[in-house]
Amino acid sequence: MMRSDRSARLALALLVCSVCWAAAGAPLTAEDWEGLPSAASIALNQSPMHAARIIRCWIAFPWKRAAAETAMLPHQGMTISVWDAVRDAVVPMPLEDYVLGVVAAEMPASYHSEALKCQAVAARTRAAWSCLALGGSGCTEHPLCDICTESSCCQGYLALTEMHTKWGDDTSRWLARITEAVDATAGQILTYNGLPIEIMYHACSGGQTEDAAAVFKQSVPYLKSVASPGEESFRHFTSETVYSRSGAAAMLCAAFPDAGITAENLPGSLELLSSTASGRIKQARVGDMTVSGSQLRKALDLNSALFTWDADEETITFHIRGSGHGVGMSQAGAQAMAAAGSTCPQILAHYYPGTVLTTLPE
Ligand SMILES: [Zn+2]
Repeated sequence: MMRSDRSARLALALLVCSVCWAAAGAPLTAEDWEGLPSAASIALNQSPMHAARIIRCWIAFPWKRAAAETAMLPHQGMTISVWDAVRDAVVPMPLEDYVLGVVAAEMPASYHSEALKCQAVAARTRAAWSCLALGGSGCTEHPLCDICTESSCCQGYLALTEMHTKWGDDTSRWLARITEAVDATAGQILTYNGLPIEIMYHACSGGQTEDAAAVFKQSVPYLKSVASPGEESFRHFTSETVYSRSGAAAMLCAAFPDAGITAENLPGSLELLSSTASGRIKQARVGDMTVSGSQLRKALDLNSALFTWDADEETITFHIRGSGHGVGMSQAGAQAMAAAGSTCPQILAHYYPGTVLTTLPE
């Protein structure tokens, strides 16, 4: 009796350990184990800062632990660990230096100073959110950094050498404009309920931004669809993409192999099923499949999910409005509002309703 009791307890303990192991996301298969970086490579190569933070917070003497944990909260003088795609490494950099590089990468430097200030606040907010939400564990694409420099994942970023490549002899002129916008908003982020918001922005909305729920399947109180007037003169307000029918069919087959698309059946195989409140494609039929507007946009490499199409014997033409996912601030709209006299706080309040412009602690 005693023996079976002990066995049952042992089995229960093993079961609990297994459940906890799996629930914690620990590696389960041989591939999982092989994909893990070694502790030494994490500390030495991938993220010395992350290793330092762990040491500071968990091995620090008790009377230093509170100060170490405070140092992890977003603040003006903080240093963040940035996975740099150009250098293929995690680079520590002061928050404000990082913000400067993001504005240089993500918005035309010729935009109005109030629009550049909005971009600086957006870049800083994203960094503060990442530091807090991810805690140095890494973004979607790169482990053990606070944020990465890929615009498709986190935010684009230009170091000084890349700015020289992009702007040439105009570098000092554009850099001065961006520096002015970053300095004028030093430490400012957008918060909701006292926390940095998960900020989104895009190049051009096509006249109406999108509700986050329509693109990311998650309703966010400050990422609702709002009008974005004044964008009509921007480059991506309207655009056309023309493919041969066989080319478009090949792209759709690559993305949706089970849809049964051919060049011959293409026009009849593509059908709009529903639209979002902002007019973007919500669901479409592609052959035998139902896909989201975002999936269809990605498959066809189109500027946005706000499009219609027509086809002839040889080609299919997509008529597109806007550029980007359409959620949050439209950079073209911010530029239009700034040119019409709106200030940075007014523009941010328009695109992120209910948020508060807050200054990070020093
Ligand atoms: Zn990333």
